Amino acid sequence: MKVAVLAGDGVGPEVIAEAVKVLAALRREGSAFEMEQASVGGAAYDAAGDPLPGPTLELARAADAILFGAVGGPRYDALPREKRPERAILRLRKELNLFANLRPASVFPELAGASTLKAEVVAGLDILIVRELTGDIYFGQPRGIRELNGGVREGFDTMRYTDEEIRRIAHAGFRAALKRNRKLCSVDKANVLETSQLWREVVSAVGKEYAAVELTHMYVDSAAMQLLKNPRQFDVIVTGNMFGDILSDEASMLTGSIGMLPSASLDEKGKGLYEPIHGSAPDIAGKNLANPLAAILSAAMMLRYSFDQDRVAARVEVAVKKALAQGYRTADIFQQGTRKVGTREMGDAVVAALS
Ligand code: NAD
Repeated sequence: MKVAVLAGDGVGPEVIAEAVKVLAALRREGSAFEMEQASVGGAAYDAAGDPLPGPTLELARAADAILFGAVGGPRYDALPREKRPERAILRLRKELNLFANLRPASVFPELAGASTLKAEVVAGLDILIVRELTGDIYFGQPRGIRELNGGVREGFDTMRYTDEEIRRIAHAGFRAALKRNRKLCSVDKANVLETSQLWREVVSAVGKEYAAVELTHMYVDSAAMQLLKNPRQFDVIVTGNMFGDILSDEASMLTGSIGMLPSASLDEKGKGLYEPIHGSAPDIAGKNLANPLAAILSAAMMLRYSFDQDRVAARVEVAVKKALAQGYRTADIFQQGTRKVGTREMGDAVVAALS
């Protein structure tokens, strides 16, 4: 197994160094994978004039998984669109056909107080949102702004999904549910939208192939409410691009800390790009302040979803829990009575907790 390590800009290299530290510790114990680094984002633009240079894309293609940090920063904000660091991630998703976005939202009991919801509502929360990433109203044609009779202007977009696109994201949702608590909730708006009626029909048909998974359906407005009222009822949610965009951000806020949340974008065969959901955090970059746990938990997702090493992945997650239980906290999750540490020390604490 080969991992392409693309650390990027800002806090990206700092948090990825800690994830690599954890992976290197696992490798010393016998997990078989190799890692190779390449530049991406602003760093790659500085070195090669392109946020995704040819050799980086080739490495990403050849690898079984990509561990990605973050890209971007104020220095690059004035660049033309094609040269902006953020283009690298969009191009990687497109070139590698990464259509399934997996966003877990879990609340470690020690951090339940950081949520804006009551601790008893979110403590122990562990949900996964599987969002389709390449279709829906964000890409549907026709779209535009046109002038109607009398000079009235009209903006319009097209929501569309083919049954094949629905089928493949449904499979991704069911496969993820099989690795967890075997409950899948498909979210749509089938009471109003034709696209959603087809969605519900196809997801239900795919469900017949997964007898071990309990499938339910929910309208998106109801799902938005239930995520706030009783989020622990969910295990895996599968949904389209726009609904998933909104619900995954809502779910991430249940946890109260952006430095804790990993994500994955997968292709049909399980190859994936794994990254923390946070950006390059230029305000704290280079200060040993960033929380590396989102990057470390992204590496754990990589072990689970691309390498099928569920037990090793669980070991990493347990090590993170242990480090938190021992009181280690980076500044973003620090509370009185706990032990404030920097990025590197948090990585060390997780490595120590592995054994
Ligand atoms: P951001 O996620 O970088 O930062 C938002 C806030 O969260 C900041 O206060 C930051 O200090 C804090 N934060 C982020 N990660 C943290 C961590 N690991 N530990 C502790 N605190 C953390 O979002 P932003 O400020 O809107 O964007 C900064 C840059 O990152 C921009 O150039 C943006 O385009 C880019 N960005 C990149 C990605 C990506 O690479 N996938 C995603 C989002 C934003």
